[in-house]
Amino acid sequence: MQNPWSKELGRFTALVAAAVFMGVIIQHPLFTVLLSLCAYTAWHIVNIFRLEQWLRQSSTATPPHGIGIWEHIFYHLYQIQVRHRKQKQKLTDQLKQFKESATAFPDATVVINAQGEIEWFNRSAMDLLGLKTPTDFGQRIISLVRHPRFTHYYNQRQYQDSIQIPSPVKDHISLHISIIPFGQELYLLVARDISRIIHLEKMRSDFIANVSHELRTPLTVISGLLETLQDDKAAFPQRHHRPLDLMTEQSLRMERLIEDLLLLTKLETEPVKHENKSVDIPTLIRSLTEEAMVISTVKQHNITLEIDDNLWITCKEKELASAFMNLISNAIRYTPAQGQIRLSWYSDTHGAHFSVADNGIGVSAQHIGRLTERFYRVDVSRSRDTGGTGLGLAIVKHVLERTGGSLHIDSEIGKGSCFRCDFPPHLIHSPDILDRQNA
Ligand code: ADP
Repeated sequence: MQNPWSKELGRFTALVAAAVFMGVIIQHPLFTVLLSLCAYTAWHIVNIFRLEQWLRQSSTATPPHGIGIWEHIFYHLYQIQVRHRKQKQKLTDQLKQFKESATAFPDATVVINAQGEIEWFNRSAMDLLGLKTPTDFGQRIISLVRHPRFTHYYNQRQYQDSIQIPSPVKDHISLHISIIPFGQELYLLVARDISRIIHLEKMRSDFIANVSHELRTPLTVISGLLETLQDDKAAFPQRHHRPLDLMTEQSLRMERLIEDLLLLTKLETEPVKHENKSVDIPTLIRSLTEEAMVISTVKQHNITLEIDDNLWITCKEKELASAFMNLISNAIRYTPAQGQIRLSWYSDTHGAHFSVADNGIGVSAQHIGRLTERFYRVDVSRSRDTGGTGLGLAIVKHVLERTGGSLHIDSEIGKGSCFRCDFPPHLIHSPDILDRQNA
């Protein structure tokens, strides 16, 4: 097929040639050539006018009929227009589908702009957050979801975290809220109703607490009777001595297990109260070490202390004592005889730290992340043989979380472990600071 531009050039050349021929006949060639050029230009102007009229009309109108090169121009433009129309329709359908699915989403979903104003929300956001159409579009989210924890979370802009708040419209509903940045300075707020999970969690901890309480009473009776039998041990035949010792050992183990379960439930369920009492941690560590020395006598560990006597923190002393003692007794239980155990209490720019380092059996890297799970043990029989309940580190983790601190574990199999409790700087209240405050 011939190129349309070659055809158009041929047509133009034929027009000019015809004009020259006519001009020669009437003896005014310049006039006829000029006339033909004017006619050719006028033809183009008319077509440009028709094109502009067509483009101005609705995009669905059929293109004008053209001749020559204009037939091709109109045809190509029409093709482009049809393609765009199809793409637009596809995008509109996709957007509609997305909006419909987001509207039907069970989680409340709100799109917020950089100024914190609401741009869009779904039906669940009306139910769970109490947002109203159309009045709440353009309103600031923190003026509508008025909860101090949400305001703090929103203003802090630490959106890798999430928070839990009661629903602003239904008190009994607990919402898990997270904000996800997307696009250009837009944010997606997702609020999920987690009341059922919280209810199940409460049922679980209530169940554990109830079972532990119920078991405690008969166990106390059994332990009391075993103690009496132990006192009269000499009166029993020799073959009964070992079973009696085993029964006493196991009942003590069960008692420890129940005490740990009850403590864990208490740590989980009791609301965290703001502590303003400064605790003398150096004295606490020294008294725990004395207790530890008694347990460690058989294994003759070398326990050393490195303590900053001027470093106190605000915390719940009883809870912290139980966490520290768990770490110290673990070091004793998992370090072979004559091993080294080093207890340190110090501060740096990150806050205060208590660390228990030993050169014991250590833990391989794949277990470290799971050590604070309840009943997670690297070696179950070793843990049981040394009197472990499998709950020690779970208790440590909970106590530290309640205090505002965290647990850091470093360990290498065969070389030893270091369990470090980190406390944020704002908890530090040194005795000389207190003296100055009291003066
Ligand atoms: P357990 O009562 O079994 O000691 P914990 O929760 O205190 O329970 O500890 C969980 C597991 O972590 C232990 O079973 C043990 O495998 C490991 N572990 C804890 N402390 C140490 C340590 N100092 N050295 C080596 N392993 C340890």
